[in-house]
Parts: sequence; C-alpha cells; structure tokens
Amino acid sequence: MPDKTVVILGGTAEARLLADALVENDGERLRVITSLAGRTKNPKLPKGEVRDGGFGGADGLATHLSETGCDLLIDATHPYAAQITRHAAEAANKANLPRLLLNRPAWVEQEDDNWTHVKDIAAAADAITRQSRACLITTGVNDLAAFSGIVTTKLFVRLIEKPEKLPLDHVEVVIGSPPYKTSDETALMQLLGIDLIVTKNAGGSGTYAKIEAARALGIGVIMIDRPPLPQSDTVETVEDALARTMEILD
Ligand code: NAP
Repeated sequence: MPDKTVVILGGTAEARLLADALVENDGERLRVITSLAGRTKNPKLPKGEVRDGGFGGADGLATHLSETGCDLLIDATHPYAAQITRHAAEAANKANLPRLLLNRPAWVEQEDDNWTHVKDIAAAADAITRQSRACLITTGVNDLAAFSGIVTTKLFVRLIEKPEKLPLDHVEVVIGSPPYKTSDETALMQLLGIDLIVTKNAGGSGTYAKIEAARALGIGVIMIDRPPLPQSDTVETVEDALARTMEILD
C-alpha cells in the first residue's frame, strides 16, 4: 500500500518520463497520479494513474489535491502553459503543500541564428507579413486565430493531429510529432519553400531540429519569448526532479 501521493501536472515528455521513473523506482511506496488537460485524442500515457481534463480553476485543483491526499504537487507542464502553473502555485499554497516546478531551460540564440524576439502571439503575427512569403507556424492550434489577418503570406501550421475544425481556413496543416530530426526538418522546409518559422522557445531536444534546420538554411525565426511564471522551487531535468522529489518526501 503506497504511503505517499504525488500529483504530476503533465502534457510534456518530461512529465511522462518522470511518472514512469517514479513508478519504476518507488511504485511500492508512491501513488503517482498524472493529470492531463485532455487536449490530445491519443496521448502517450505514463505509468501510474492518469486523470484527464481541467479542474475548474485553482480551487478545483486544490480540491483534487486534498481528495487524493496529495503530499507533493509536481508541475511538469509546458513552459508556455502559464495559467495552469499559476493555478498550481495558488492551489498548493491553499492546500499548504510543497510544489515543484520542472521547467526545461530555454534555447539560446547561436551566432548563425536569425531570431526576431516577440512577446506574444499577436506580435508574432504582426511580424510575419513584413518578412515572409511562406511561413511555418509551430505554436499549436489554440493560437491560430491570431494569424487570421495574414493574407499575403502562405501559412503552414504543424500539428500533432488534425483538429475537427481549424480556426482559420487559409492555412495548410502539416502533421508531425516530436522528436524531429534536423534532416527531416530541412527537407520539409525546402519542400514547402519556407522562409520563416514562428515558434515558442520550448527548450529541450524534441523540437530543436527546426532551429538547427533554420540556421543551416538561413531562415529567420520569430521567437515568442517565454511567459513569466510564479516563483517556484524549480528543477530543469527529469533527473533533478527525481532527486528533489525524494528529498521533499523523505
Ligand atoms: P494553460 O493555458 O496553462 O491552461 C489552461 C487550462 O487548461 C487550465 O486552467 C486548466 O483548466 C487546464 N489544464 C492545463 N494543463 C492541465 C493539466 N496538466 N491537467 C489538467 N488541466 C490542465 O495550458 P495550455 O497552454 O492550454 O496547455 C494545456 C496542456 O498542454 C498542458 O498540460 C501543457 O503541459 C500541454 N502543452 C502545452 C503547450 C503550449 O505551448 N502551451 C505545448 C505542449 C504541451 P482548469 O482551469 O479548468 O483547471
């Protein structure tokens, strides 16, 4: 019978790897619950328990933490999932629980990169028309509506799965899932005649190939900088998250 419960807010490869490692290393002692937002139809599932869908705000998350008898909340969500991270901070505070943030480091611009830094998706959309004839957008389906005013640039959007309905009809969908290879990214950009990429600064290796391909091909990158997150006990890798979890729970 497990004597400690860990709730992981997931939706990233790191969250899945962390849940797998906690269950494999300490499954006798730990109950591991991963929470997914429910946005993807067939997500890769982690070991341990999985729940799906929003909590209904910070109060709903606090209720979930108390109902599951949570001892540690690990926020391993995407660096741009700022709302759930704010809710996690508020809920852990309310429930008087320790909270750990697993946040992978941002990519850093290299000498041959050509990045235009923007603060949000609206600023990214503003920057496209001036720079591009064919642009690959890799920021996900939720933000697509921001590009509705762009008519002189051919837009491609890369998504993990085709949505039932796209918020824009003048974009072409390219299906793909990380991890990507630089050679494939280079070939894709050449095939589509891409001259600009719009991306979030996701960090990590899974989607970095597009940055390497853009560098090699001399393609510009509109980089949406990271949103501010609440102050947190933060680790950057799954290994460090594992070690810190043990420290907190022991
Ligand atoms: P968000 O804007 O920060 O959160 C919006 C709402 O979605 C939250 O208020 C919460 O609803 C629900 N939610 C988000 N993550 C959840 C989780 N792990 N478990 C349960 N509910 C969750 O989040 P987002 O940017 O839409 O991202 C949604 C999910 O996709 C996250 O799990 C994130 O890790 C993953 N993801 C996001 C991105 C990205 O670029 N943003 C990229 C890759 C993966 P309630 O208020 O109802 O609780």
